[in-house]
Amino acid sequence: MSDEESGMFSDIPVDVGLIYEGERVRGKQMQVELGGGKIKEKFELVLAREMNEIEDEKVTIVGPDLKDLEEGKTYPIGIIVEVAGRLVEKDLEAVLERRIHEFTNYIEGLMHLNQRYDIWMRLSKSSYKKGFDTLEYWGKVLIRLYKSEFSKVIEKIQVTIFTDPKEIKTWYEKAMEIYEARDSRARGMKDEDVDLFYGCTLCQSFAPTHVCTITPERISLCGAINWFDARAASKVDPKGPNFAIEKGECIDEIKGEFTGVNEITKKKSLGEIDRVHLYTILSPYNHTSCGCFEAIAFYIPEVAGIGIVDRNFKGETVNGLRFSTMANSTGGGKQVEGFVGIAIEYLRSPKLFSADGGWNKIVWLPSNIKERVENDIPEDIRDKIATEKNAPTIDELKAFLKSVDHPVVKDWVEEEEEEEEEEEAMMVPQGQQITYQQTMPVQMGTGVGIPLVGQLQLPLGALGGGAGAQWKITFKNAKIIADEMVIKRIKPAKKKKK
Ligand code: SF4
Repeated sequence: MSDEESGMFSDIPVDVGLIYEGERVRGKQMQVELGGGKIKEKFELVLAREMNEIEDEKVTIVGPDLKDLEEGKTYPIGIIVEVAGRLVEKDLEAVLERRIHEFTNYIEGLMHLNQRYDIWMRLSKSSYKKGFDTLEYWGKVLIRLYKSEFSKVIEKIQVTIFTDPKEIKTWYEKAMEIYEARDSRARGMKDEDVDLFYGCTLCQSFAPTHVCTITPERISLCGAINWFDARAASKVDPKGPNFAIEKGECIDEIKGEFTGVNEITKKKSLGEIDRVHLYTILSPYNHTSCGCFEAIAFYIPEVAGIGIVDRNFKGETVNGLRFSTMANSTGGGKQVEGFVGIAIEYLRSPKLFSADGGWNKIVWLPSNIKERVENDIPEDIRDKIATEKNAPTIDELKAFLKSVDHPVVKDWVEEEEEEEEEEEAMMVPQGQQITYQQTMPVQMGTGVGIPLVGQLQLPLGALGGGAGAQWKITFKNAKIIADEMVIKRIKPAKKKKK
């Protein structure tokens, strides 16, 4: 941020700048919490208005202000940013709205996570003590950053911040209708019908190698930006975080691999990610995940199926892990085979893990998500998908899937047969001890928790089959206990200069 820009905030009692992005306010450090998992109704909205509907730079607080809120407590929150200008159009609402997250995080000691109906904010005690004791400062910073960043688009802007629960409830319901109307626009469109996809790198401040590819049938994983939204943003702000992607040649239409997506992802991830498979979870080239995903899809190897958990699900999922635990190993801009961040809207897409079998591969969902997308689940599979109510554990899930004859069950039979054949063939000489090197390179793979696929090095002659024979080793009912696991990328050794 330039000196001129930082001068924009001389009347704000705390610093405002890029360096505060990514700052976390822990429970013990917080003055107050706004929204988050404890609060059902919260929202953020950007609305396009006519010029005469806006009082430029006005900030209104509806409900108690920060100084009226009890220290350490959690309160509901809602915000509406209304914008007007010659180039302002409805299609821009969603992408402008997504910037609330970024701009709020520029404020020292004010943390903002997630989006839309899921926002979670905390103000630190130290910023409060410095004088950040009114939400008006939040509104002022947003107004100035929007006007600075979108100087050619936004001519007038006003902000209304709600803490009054009654007002929030009313606006929350309206906001949910607006989100639904935005999302439904892209439904019915096919990826095959367009030449351009769109990309977003807004989350690179948190996950530097993350690049979202947004297609008509694959909404962004934060759920806030669909193909239309990204298209509108890339037109009005070509140097911004949204950009067009020429699809190029389709390398794999089942898994969803395109030369154009690979090329631009490589460029935007600074060479880290050079292949992307859009329509599968079972690939080392999965779409990357940042940290803003609405839900996580996770492979459950015990049943050869896919589970989905949203960030509001409390407690352990069917594989014994919580959302937050899986989020740590899924996010950060990595490609993790068997785990991927998704938006709830993606569950409505015909391309939902279509390479893996689509809905026929989904075995477990939280009941509230199942209710939300019920009409989008094919009727013949709807009752065969378990929830936490009928299958809280893997054993119960197995029994449930068998009882309803879920399509994945037939994969078990085939896998079991394959394993039996392999077991027959794999005869280790009696008394032969098998050892392996524990300093093996480790890569992420499919499995429960943090799954590992290792490379075992066995002593020569430990297994039969002669030179050049290849073996697959399956650990059954294995339990791995580790105090700590450190995963480091192994860089190729530099060539010595002669
Ligand atoms: S999740 Fe993707 S689309 Fe959403 S803001 Fe982040 S990078 Fe952009």
